[in-house]
Amino acid sequence: MASRVAVWLLNDLRLHDHPALHAALQKQPEHVEFVFIWGPPLISWGKLSYPPHFPGVNRRISPMRERFIIESLLDLARRVPLTLLEGEPDEVLPAWAASRGLSAVYAHKEWAVEESAYQEAVAKALQRHNITLSLHEGNALYESSQLPFPIEALPQLFTRFRQLVERTVQVKPPLPEPTLPSPIPNPETEKWLEERLSKLPSLHEQSFHFRGGERAGQSWVKRYFERAVFTYKETRNRFYGETFSSHFSPWLALGCLSPRWIYAQLREAEKSHKANESTYWLFFELLWREYFRWLGARWGWRFFASGGLRDLNLPWRRDAKLFQAWKEGQTGYPIVDAAMRELSATGWTSNRARQIVASFLTKNLFIDWRWGAAYFETQLIDYDVYSNWGNWLYQAGVGTDGRGFRWFDPVRQAKLYDNDGGFIRLWVPELRSLSAPRIYMPEPNQRPALRYPQPIVDWQQSLAYAKDTYWRAVKGEPKGNQLLKLFREE
Ligand SMILES: Cc1cc2nc3c(=O)[nH]c(=O)nc-3n(C[C@H](O)[C@H](O)[C@H](O)COP(=O)(O)OP(=O)(O)OC[C@H]3O[C@@H](n4cnc5c(N)ncnc54)[C@H](O)[C@@H]3O)c2cc1C
Repeated sequence: MASRVAVWLLNDLRLHDHPALHAALQKQPEHVEFVFIWGPPLISWGKLSYPPHFPGVNRRISPMRERFIIESLLDLARRVPLTLLEGEPDEVLPAWAASRGLSAVYAHKEWAVEESAYQEAVAKALQRHNITLSLHEGNALYESSQLPFPIEALPQLFTRFRQLVERTVQVKPPLPEPTLPSPIPNPETEKWLEERLSKLPSLHEQSFHFRGGERAGQSWVKRYFERAVFTYKETRNRFYGETFSSHFSPWLALGCLSPRWIYAQLREAEKSHKANESTYWLFFELLWREYFRWLGARWGWRFFASGGLRDLNLPWRRDAKLFQAWKEGQTGYPIVDAAMRELSATGWTSNRARQIVASFLTKNLFIDWRWGAAYFETQLIDYDVYSNWGNWLYQAGVGTDGRGFRWFDPVRQAKLYDNDGGFIRLWVPELRSLSAPRIYMPEPNQRPALRYPQPIVDWQQSLAYAKDTYWRAVKGEPKGNQLLKLFREE
């Protein structure tokens, strides 16, 4: 019997390679609608969320991310019937679905604790109306059934994971964008989105030209794969510029692009030009993304726990003043300050910059890494629960880094990857008159005249304290090339 069904969108704002949509269409419904909830777990905190405890937090997403989400929704709202609901998913979605006479709702399965709690609550509430919630895997390179191990046996080290999947699993081709039975847009949704968009600030003048939506994302990928990708390996650790890295992350995080589609495009680019180390390296980074997804699926709430996957009892500090200086880019360490100011102004900063500031927060200020991760969540245009928390766990030494205690020297990193000081000059105008190498660490007596703060901690001493405290908790540094035994079973 022909029926009416809906696709509940979350981190999958696209029509291509959308397994949930394909499953919905297999039932040959007379009508497919799309629904998005302007509320938890993506837009705000709700009854099943874990709001962060760091001081001064009030919004879950930054205006830059809100802009990107709205643009992505608009891209869909102009092509398909999309309804926006405001409120708690398990309250507003079942009521709406029942009023529309739906027989089923389709969505992509989420693995993180809050997201899956909401999916469970929605499934139960829908059931009371005899409507089923049908969950499908999407948004990853591999399906769980393709992995050469059960999720519970996910390797504890990325390298092992990568070797196993590379050796044994093929990325499936992306599903095509389907033809919909009645793709008539809903003008009210478009109007609501346009009004909201008009009230948001535009992108910062130094921001990459992030424009939300499947079509904007696809056209950027095609441009990036024409040329820039072939030098990715040499440029990827830089701090600024349009093409030093791909900037795919916001589209991937919101699912405007599917990783399988990007992978297929990459293979095409390799066919028409030539595969090289750089094209491989882009795939390698997509595998990091993949690894953190499955890590989140494997570890549940431990992914968000202070002691992390190692259950380490570290005396993290919760010093609001130091944390504030870090957030505002007033630490007195130019590369850290440049990155933190870029993050709050644009919602994005490079991977190298993220590593440096995360290391500074956890290895020099010794502040609770979860404050850092939660702050990133409120700022990043590309926030992705798995990549963010997985990377923070790793940087804090409580995740899957086999070396355990890893740190970044902010001055050395700046010399290596900001070799003319251009990035610092861009974001820390107080230091514009300085040239390299002085710009990497101005002298104490220069700072008052420049109106630039003195360092908020002594780098060497704070690192020594953190190192000592860490290895005491772990009970001993590994010798030679030996890796830290992450878990008892290894
Ligand atoms: C503390 C910290 C927090 C982070 N939080 C996020 C986050 O919330 N969302 C997010 O998408 N990435 C996060 N990352 C990973 C990485 O910094 C960004 O994905 C990357 O900087 C985005 O830029 P790009 O698209 O140009 O990346 P590219 O270098 O061009 O890489 C291509 C793609 O590979 C993936 N990728 C690259 N590096 C990583 C990585 N280390 N971990 C996981 N995936 C990776 C991303 O999807 C990226 O778009 C975080 C890293 C750190 C150190």
